[in-house]
Amino acid sequence: MDFKFDDKAEELRKKIREFVKDNIPTDIKMGLFVDEHYDEDWAFAMETAKKLSDIGWLTMSWPKEHCGMGASVWERVVMGEESGYWGIPGMGMGVSGTAWVGPSLMLFGTEEQKKKYLPKIASGEDDGVWCTGYSEPDSGSDLASLQCSAKRVGDEYIINGQKVWNSAGHRARWCWLACRTDPNAKRKHDGISLIIVDLQSPGVTIRPIPNIIGAHVFNELFFKDVHVPAENLVGKENNGWAQLMQALAFERGVAISSSAMTRRMLDELIHYAKETGAFAKPEIRHKLVDLAIDIKTLRILAMEAAWKVAKGEMVIHEPSRDKALNDLILEKVGQIGTEIIGAFAQVDPLEKNAGLQRLRGLMEWIYFSTPGMWAAAGTTDTNRNIVAQFGLGLPRGY
Ligand SMILES: Cc1cc2nc3c(=O)[nH]c(=O)nc-3n(C[C@H](O)[C@H](O)[C@H](O)COP(=O)(O)OP(=O)(O)OC[C@H]3O[C@@H](n4cnc5c(N)ncnc54)[C@H](O)[C@@H]3O)c2cc1C
Repeated sequence: MDFKFDDKAEELRKKIREFVKDNIPTDIKMGLFVDEHYDEDWAFAMETAKKLSDIGWLTMSWPKEHCGMGASVWERVVMGEESGYWGIPGMGMGVSGTAWVGPSLMLFGTEEQKKKYLPKIASGEDDGVWCTGYSEPDSGSDLASLQCSAKRVGDEYIINGQKVWNSAGHRARWCWLACRTDPNAKRKHDGISLIIVDLQSPGVTIRPIPNIIGAHVFNELFFKDVHVPAENLVGKENNGWAQLMQALAFERGVAISSSAMTRRMLDELIHYAKETGAFAKPEIRHKLVDLAIDIKTLRILAMEAAWKVAKGEMVIHEPSRDKALNDLILEKVGQIGTEIIGAFAQVDPLEKNAGLQRLRGLMEWIYFSTPGMWAAAGTTDTNRNIVAQFGLGLPRGY
């Protein structure tokens, strides 16, 4: 691996840090992933998204003709690192839209779809917010078994079925929906399509699922005879599986910002250990060192993937490899952080007055949320299976 951040990328880093100083309060609940819970937090995330959009940073990696800046891979890496480290909330605004719906539409969408949806996503405004509708009560890791159906009738699809665990579904205008368009296909993978659904359509019901700390991030979506124009089909009918795999690869490419986010958590823990004298205990010193080694390893792996992309190479198993490692690191942060801050780990992360010196309830949230983080974007096991097959060349398991 041989790479270097050029002057333009370093200049961008400086500008982002100035933006953070001017726009992001120091008590931001960095890394808590609960902007969707409180209206005021969501409003702040959207306000920040608009500012990022005005500068061009929200979709900086997109080509200029699609409301982007055509940023280089290394500029994107800088943006990912800085936004992860500082927890810039607007970057997470309907992250489905900026991170995988937009890039997938550029690959598979019609010209009309690109014209209609990409500027909305890039605008950072309410009707550019998306959620993702893949999982169902009986289809998670085995996603190809999904049953939510879309039946073609004239120039419409009629959608019926249920989705679950839809992050930000209650804040989103659009759903990136995976559904079954051919119930008789020989292979279950072959009867699936991706369809864009306006969540304001009649027949859509959105029900909250509070997460383990009581935050409303997830939802269940119910579709009862929802009429969707046929032009909302993305790519070819029944070819959705290949498109889904590509969209999931975009979704799993989170290692750059995640390694920066965990680096910030480590810095907060180091600061805490110094302030309170906890650093004097050898086991705490050693655990902090172990964590630092893991986080650095993830950063190097993420850089390797970015370097390959910069050279024009395809990355296939790398996002899964990095996502699997990130899952293990987040779990360690929760465990080590909880040991270090002791009883303060019980501070409620949704408590507005959670003090800075108590890491704002961050550790409790990380401790409780990491089992969920393993599952998001495919479980750690699913990602291990992908690395086994495509990274190690092992035959597909059963
Ligand atoms: C924070 C978070 C956000 C999410 N956001 C969304 C969203 O916005 N939209 C959406 O559609 N979904 C979302 N999900 C759902 C997520 O995609 C699923 O939870 C995930 O795909 C796993 O499915 P499952 O929960 O049904 O678990 P299961 O598939 O039932 O898995 C249960 C266990 O069995 C293991 N397992 C299953 N199959 C295999 C296998 N072949 N080999 C080895 N082990 C296996 C799994 O690793 C896991 O440990 C989200 C989940 C979380 C936690």
